[in-house]
Amino acid sequence: MAQIAGACRFVYNLALEQRRDWWRPGRKFNSVSQCREVTELRAQVDWIKAAPVAALQQALRDLDRAYQNWWAGRADYPTPRKKGFNDSFRFPDPNYLTLRRTGKSSGQLKLPKLGWVRLRGWRALPGDLRNVTVSRRAGQWFAAIQCEREIPEPIPSSLPSVGIDMGVAVFAALSDGTSIAPANHGKKALRALRKAQRALARKRKGSANRRKAVRRVARIHQRVANARKDFLHKHSTTIAKNHGTVVVEALNLRNMSASAKGTTEKPGRKVRQKAGLNRAILDQGWGAFRIMLAYKLADRGGRLVEVPAAYTSQTCSACGVVDSASRVSQAVFACSGCGHTANADTNAAINILRRADSALKPVEGHRVVRPGEAGTSRSAA
Ligand SMILES: [Zn+2]
Repeated sequence: MAQIAGACRFVYNLALEQRRDWWRPGRKFNSVSQCREVTELRAQVDWIKAAPVAALQQALRDLDRAYQNWWAGRADYPTPRKKGFNDSFRFPDPNYLTLRRTGKSSGQLKLPKLGWVRLRGWRALPGDLRNVTVSRRAGQWFAAIQCEREIPEPIPSSLPSVGIDMGVAVFAALSDGTSIAPANHGKKALRALRKAQRALARKRKGSANRRKAVRRVARIHQRVANARKDFLHKHSTTIAKNHGTVVVEALNLRNMSASAKGTTEKPGRKVRQKAGLNRAILDQGWGAFRIMLAYKLADRGGRLVEVPAAYTSQTCSACGVVDSASRVSQAVFACSGCGHTANADTNAAINILRRADSALKPVEGHRVVRPGEAGTSRSAA
């Protein structure tokens, strides 16, 4: 599996280099032309021939997607894949994939070139198998199985609406006055991580002990990621179960978590503070939280609505006066106009909820799952 991931990485990087360095007017490269070249390459190079051709072609598709994301302004220019980072490969054709159960919590997956591979754990597929992505995380190999199924159109939800203000001090404040405390998984694990990283720095390059230390660091990252995912799933499920419409601020996460350093022409200000905030933002996983909310609501006939974020924290939810002086502290809002006092985050959440009535704007960029396109289509692979 490491060899297949290596061949896919090699082809990806080669194709990236070709597109980046050998582009000329009238000499265009795309995944179609590059797929043809991979076929020629396989005839000449044995270790590339040893990798399944479909997986290599998928790597070229991934590169195509990376370029599309760059053109659309959603991502930076594609960078080469590195060994040991997101090692993965994908089999796109369900005709060459078979899944079978072998025990109470075990199964087998038949993959091209690899044959039958044992699986630890078993879950029945909720639909028809579409494709399989094999990836390595913290030294373990995982199979992600994508399924497709028809689901009936959900009945539009009649549950109450709620506004959510997301923050760093409080993970999420709801307009009904409740709030979710931040979990700060990354912060808690930081000490263990620092210790593991220091131990790693002392190990000799290429030694077995170094390999072990690398794995230890990766495991801590993995544990943090799992805990965060669990936290986000729990809270997004509770909110989606109890509400029909959920209103959130339209945040540009990409800009917010962009490097605070800026560029050489435009050096950033307050670099240290911003770096801390950026870590906090990424730690919270707001982006993932919204995506979870969007599909969990859609499944239940609800919806997620994004509204412009400007002044929601400075507006009085009782009289509507906008004044930055009303926000007396991180936690307290006291209106300079009418004297109304409230929890600052709850006040903002109420404003966010109200804003949805004035200018309804459905979420853009999030994959809202609609009936008929349930699961995801193969083109998403
Ligand atoms: Zn007021």
